[in-house]
Amino acid sequence: MAKNMKVDVAVIGAGTAGLFARHYAAKAGAKTIMLDPGPLGTTCARVGCMPSKLLIAAAEAAHGARQAAVYGVKTRVSVDGAAVLRKVRSGRDPFRPSQHEAAFEGRVAGRNAARYPRVEAERRYCQLAIAFTDPQLAVVGKARGELAPGTFCCGELEYKDQGRARIMNAGRGRLKVYGGKRTGRLLGAEIAGPRAEHAAHLLAWCIEKNMTVSEMLRLPVYHPVLEEGLREALEDLSAKLRGRAPCACEEKVSGV
Ligand SMILES: Cc1cc2nc3c(=O)[nH]c(=O)nc-3n(C[C@H](O)[C@H](O)[C@H](O)COP(=O)(O)OP(=O)(O)OC[C@H]3O[C@@H](n4cnc5c(N)ncnc54)[C@H](O)[C@@H]3O)c2cc1C
Repeated sequence: MAKNMKVDVAVIGAGTAGLFARHYAAKAGAKTIMLDPGPLGTTCARVGCMPSKLLIAAAEAAHGARQAAVYGVKTRVSVDGAAVLRKVRSGRDPFRPSQHEAAFEGRVAGRNAARYPRVEAERRYCQLAIAFTDPQLAVVGKARGELAPGTFCCGELEYKDQGRARIMNAGRGRLKVYGGKRTGRLLGAEIAGPRAEHAAHLLAWCIEKNMTVSEMLRLPVYHPVLEEGLREALEDLSAKLRGRAPCACEEKVSGV
């Protein structure tokens, strides 16, 4: 590489954010360079997003087989670690970084670097954070600690009482949804429970659409599904927003 180069935008780090930054800077007409000592490949594609989910899928398969006796199914499980890692390596390769937070930040940084000093802020989606633990954890929109006391009500559901969760032998955790007292709109949710990733997405879409809790309760839910638990939490929230019950949620966390 030449010792001296004149470029408009130098991107440091060829990860997801860097690749998107370079792409959008170049698209805006900038001459770019990317600096990275390696290893090649983004964290997401190399060891992060998909590889970790492949490992988790293997762990879940082993765990599920070990738990099968609950349903009267007898199994003997042994884990071939080398085969698991072969599967992780072959399974991760078709994927490349998709649209996540780092991609968004890279796009904004790249565009703004190219047109500096005419920088523009871009609207962010509502917060959507997921931890792929068991049970899964998720935060959508505003967490309870981010809401001004007295301005919101909290609806909740315990998964130990949720029909489908119990059938799945996954009745652990709790779902809390927060709604604005003045507007009746959904503000956020915190979930520790089975397949929380899916409920979290539904809630994120509703927050993005600025929906009220009453509007959400007019949407269809099948039976028997985990989403019935979400509906129960929303019904609890709705009753509280309408002054039919005290606004708060219980503080204890059980079964997680
Ligand atoms: C195990 C694991 C699981 C994950 N699962 C998910 C998931 O399910 N969903 C999700 O959205 N995110 C997940 N993530 C997070 C996701 O991988 C990161 O948010 C994303 O990769 C961050 O992108 P980035 O561009 O900021 O950093 P990276 O992709 O890490 O890129 C940073 C780059 O900077 C380079 N660099 C570092 N220092 C220098 C330097 N001094 N000079 C030049 N270059 C440098 C590095 O070599 C690297 O290439 C996971 C991460 C891990 C580790």
